[in-house]
Amino acid sequence: MLRGLFGLTAKTLVAMLCLLALTGSIRPTQLETIQARGELVMVTRNSPTTYYQDRSGDVGYEYELAKAFANNLGVELRVVVADSLTEVFTLLDSNQAAFAAAGLTITAERQRWVRFAEPYMYVTEQVVYRRGRGKPSSIADLAAGNLVVSAGSSHAQRLRQIQREQEPALTWRETDDLGVTDLLHLVEADQVDYTIVDSNEFDLLQAYFPNLAVAFELVSPQPIAWAFPHSRDDSLHKAANDFFAQHPTQVRLAWLAERYYGHLESLDYVGAIHFLNQADRKLHKYQEHFKKAADKHEFDWRLLAAVGYQESHWRANARSFTGVRGLMMLTRTTAKELGVRNRLDPLQSIEGGSRYLAQLRKRLKGVNEPDRTWMALAAYNVGYGHLSDARKIAREMGGNPNSWMDVKEALPLLTQKRYYRHTRHGYARGHEPVEYVQNIRRYYDVLVWNDQQPQTVTTDEQMLSLLTKEVPPLL
Ligand code: GLU
Repeated sequence: MLRGLFGLTAKTLVAMLCLLALTGSIRPTQLETIQARGELVMVTRNSPTTYYQDRSGDVGYEYELAKAFANNLGVELRVVVADSLTEVFTLLDSNQAAFAAAGLTITAERQRWVRFAEPYMYVTEQVVYRRGRGKPSSIADLAAGNLVVSAGSSHAQRLRQIQREQEPALTWRETDDLGVTDLLHLVEADQVDYTIVDSNEFDLLQAYFPNLAVAFELVSPQPIAWAFPHSRDDSLHKAANDFFAQHPTQVRLAWLAERYYGHLESLDYVGAIHFLNQADRKLHKYQEHFKKAADKHEFDWRLLAAVGYQESHWRANARSFTGVRGLMMLTRTTAKELGVRNRLDPLQSIEGGSRYLAQLRKRLKGVNEPDRTWMALAAYNVGYGHLSDARKIAREMGGNPNSWMDVKEALPLLTQKRYYRHTRHGYARGHEPVEYVQNIRRYYDVLVWNDQQPQTVTTDEQMLSLLTKEVPPLL
């Protein structure tokens, strides 16, 4: 028998050489291993901008994006939740996850330890302070106050750089144990003067902290990307970049931006303060009515409460000059159709309004949630006919009439003659339903958040004790 290299049979040698020629290596690549196992493991953080659970299960911008990547590879996604940013990198380093999707900023320091994929979002790093406590306007002002940031964050790295290059007197504390929400809470509670958070995080959380504001931005917009361990095998990293280069991924990114951040500008400071006050003072009066209607018509009661606030600020005897009335602002005709005898009776108004909204939602067959509910709300505001016109315009413009993101673009066009002259129902004040839906989503988010606050809260003192490391000034 012919014996070749290291005594291998000719046949085995040929097979190995073929494999080598085909794959470039005898060992399967990381991507091949993941595909053979059928599972992709990601590490993330539990936060409103990354990953959390709500009544529909696992959600979050990073989670949904990673899930799309896993689908793209034809495998299941498994999520490992790290307790802190520091742990994200430890888990990655010890190969307990194939990649990290955790709102990570690309920094030069991190690039020494990990390899980033193409960025999919840009954020600024914002210095947040409490209104009325003197707005810092520069780094030098920060040196005079008490500043806390997440340990291991890009913010901490930035401060180090600033301390080295610009402001040696700067000091701050870092914590591994507090999340972004906790940090904001400490500023709101006057326990610390400033913190630094990413703009997307602050956008999302600002409504819950109306007393906080952005003082200034530390740097120009920074790229956020997924991180992969450095290794010679870059098959997964390459697959991720291929994924980001695909058109459907770009569409998904736009959809995710709409889903998570699309409704955020609608609540300003005064609006947020007023809403929280009113929720405190009035909501308890109507809560049971909302809950009853929600059970009956299969809504989350907090969504109905949000509609009630948007309609009348929870005033049972509200009336507009156009003749709509009551807490849910029903027109005379709609009330009649719904069998509501007294529109000023809050119970009847809430039940009638909720039934009407459920009817509208039912008519929107073929539209998936949550878009279906947003469209039903738009129809509640502007009328089903106008909504249908806008969906038609969306389709004609190459959009998807079942996607709220596209219909929301089309609705305002109903104010322009060149669009509405071809529609069935004509002109409509199309900007209004868009704003209407955004407001309701915002109110709804706040009510859900309020509800989720634990009964036994950690005291501010307990939280403060978690701020361990103090970074001293450079001498
Ligand atoms: N993008 C920031 C980072 O990468 C997130 C910081 C934070 O959420 O605390 O460090």
